[in-house]
Amino acid sequence: MKKVLEVKNICKTYQAQNGEIEALKNINFDVKEGEYISIIGPSGCGKSTLLSIISGLESKTSGEVYVDGEIGYMLQKDNLLEWRTIYRNVLLGLEIQKTNNQENKKYVEELLKKYGLYEFKDKYPKQLSGGMRQRVALIRTLAIRPKVLLLDEAFSALDYQTRLMVTEDIYKILKNENITAIMVTHDISEAISMSDRVIVLTHRPATVKQIHSIDFEMKNRTPLTCRENPKFSKYFNLMWKELDEKKH
Ligand code: ADP
Ligand code: MG
Repeated sequence: MKKVLEVKNICKTYQAQNGEIEALKNINFDVKEGEYISIIGPSGCGKSTLLSIISGLESKTSGEVYVDGEIGYMLQKDNLLEWRTIYRNVLLGLEIQKTNNQENKKYVEELLKKYGLYEFKDKYPKQLSGGMRQRVALIRTLAIRPKVLLLDEAFSALDYQTRLMVTEDIYKILKNENITAIMVTHDISEAISMSDRVIVLTHRPATVKQIHSIDFEMKNRTPLTCRENPKFSKYFNLMWKELDEKKH
């Protein structure tokens, strides 16, 4: 399948007040069209730094990132604007890009309809549950028709039960819309249940420790059905041990 993203030898050193902080060291991987990739690693190892560099928001010290197409970004906080209705929230990206024309507005309305939010379009974010807000945030991101979606701990703020439902929901939407995803998470189960491949990073400076292909040999897998699969705990134990190993 076609590559949509290539990360080549990325290094990042922050210049901090009390010296340098080496965050990333020779990170290499590529992502194929439609793939779901998760990145896991110890807290503070450089995961968010890596996503920020891929998005272009953060500079890199050396290396290259090649992306084919637009990038969307979803964070832990949904960043919905409380004073805007749902409809005006999902149009925000298009307004910023000055591409809120009839065609794109129609596309957004289709997305709202398809994913059960159209009847809430005149409501305000406060009136929606955490799960629905995350879906609104996703549709706002999809409105700009990204090829690649970056998710940084996007579900961490939700309680466990809601998180299971929201990840199921979002996974199906992304597959439906054929979006390539790169997700940072500290939740091993979440990574396994959603991904085609999981990249395990070492302690800081992050290097790629291992890349696991996740294959449940199932048609139409979803996060919930993966969690029930006998292979699930095998993957979990493998990655949990890798994360637990102290250095490299
Ligand atoms: P993670 O997302 O894996 O928890 P981060 O990428 O946020 O880790 O951070 C990696 C390391 O880089 C941490 O030690 C963090 O303190 C440091 N860091 C992150 N952003 C900056 C910055 N803007 N300036 C200096 N150091 C930073
Ligand atoms: Mg982070």
